[in-house]
Amino acid sequence: MRVTLLGTGTSTGIPMIGCTCPVCTSSDSRDSRLRTAALIESANGNILIDAGPDMRQQLLRAGVRSLHAVILTHEHQDHIGGIDDLRPLNYRMDTPMPVYGHRRTIDAVKKRYYYAFDNNNGGSSRPNLTLHELTARQQLTLAGVPITVLPITHGSLDIFGYRIGNLAYITDASAISADVVRSLIGVDTLIINALRDDPHPMHLSFDQAQEYVERIGPKRAFYVHLTHDILHATLIKRLPTHIRPGFDGMMLEVPT
Ligand SMILES: [Zn+2]
Ligand SMILES: [Zn+2]
Ligand SMILES: [Zn+2]
Repeated sequence: MRVTLLGTGTSTGIPMIGCTCPVCTSSDSRDSRLRTAALIESANGNILIDAGPDMRQQLLRAGVRSLHAVILTHEHQDHIGGIDDLRPLNYRMDTPMPVYGHRRTIDAVKKRYYYAFDNNNGGSSRPNLTLHELTARQQLTLAGVPITVLPITHGSLDIFGYRIGNLAYITDASAISADVVRSLIGVDTLIINALRDDPHPMHLSFDQAQEYVERIGPKRAFYVHLTHDILHATLIKRLPTHIRPGFDGMMLEVPT
């Protein structure tokens, strides 16, 4: 299967509105980061991980013409703010879009997109969604790909990461339990959030992320959900070769 990093930036996106720092004004395209999301393409269909406010632009850039399912990590707006833009895929595919996530995340989708579930609304002006609650450690198959739901800590929130075939996708973690670390040992590819050098109550810093990479021991790891604190070119020089900063549009082939 193929994984495309559709976005690798923190909640504000980079450049950040109004900021004139070296990263936000960088001419290196890898320093422009949309909100963190990824696309999984298998022989049997496409899965979108998170539908943030940049989703429309991300799906256009990636040339996506159909989606089999959307899986959500949690309900922060940088991860679900684009759900209304699923409408064109509803028109194209003429079917509701299955959306999967934690019960709290599903409730948030119902609240924030209340009009989508109001039958008095015109059909084309609301996304047509079917909502599916997931529980920690649940296993399911989407688009022919085996998926395991990983319980992840994001500050005071319990959120989900996903093991998808031989890929582990963990965003917005502040901690990963020993259990989850153990279950991921030997995974081929790890995508993990790494905010910046300074610690943050809701996110892993570079050092903390690297510690988890060393404990899990994937063949290769990629950092996402980055801030404007460091240039891509600076970060890549500091990291060991099995860890690379992700960038928008990066494509990875991963064995299922
Ligand atoms: Zn986030
Ligand atoms: Zn900046
Ligand atoms: Zn978050």
